[in-house]
Amino acid sequence: MNKWKAFLGGRCPRCGVGKVFESRSPYSLSKMLTTHKECPNCHLDFIPEIGFYWGATYIAYTLTVAFSAFNFGISTLIFGFMNSLNFTYVIVNAILLFIFCPLFFRFSRMLWLWIAHD
Ligand SMILES: [Zn+2]
Repeated sequence: MNKWKAFLGGRCPRCGVGKVFESRSPYSLSKMLTTHKECPNCHLDFIPEIGFYWGATYIAYTLTVAFSAFNFGISTLIFGFMNSLNFTYVIVNAILLFIFCPLFFRFSRMLWLWIAHD
């Protein structure tokens, strides 16, 4: 199986078949954070130790800062530098971060898992 397809599809880093998250949709509120204990296909341990995914928070933080900087750059290009430094940018950026938060969460967890098992 194509590794990129497996990564983006939320699949196991070893076999590329088993799903890492219980819910297919990142916006399923009740199971948004739920990760399988092990791969349903090859039994790779997805949670090898307590606090394993703490490293993923650094990836999520980096993504969030990069996304906000990108939004600020777009805002500056459209409205000019001084007009970008206003409350509207903060509110729009906060709404966008709220919308994309589940995607950043899953991407950072997947990246951390794949780094650890590749
Ligand atoms: Zn597997």
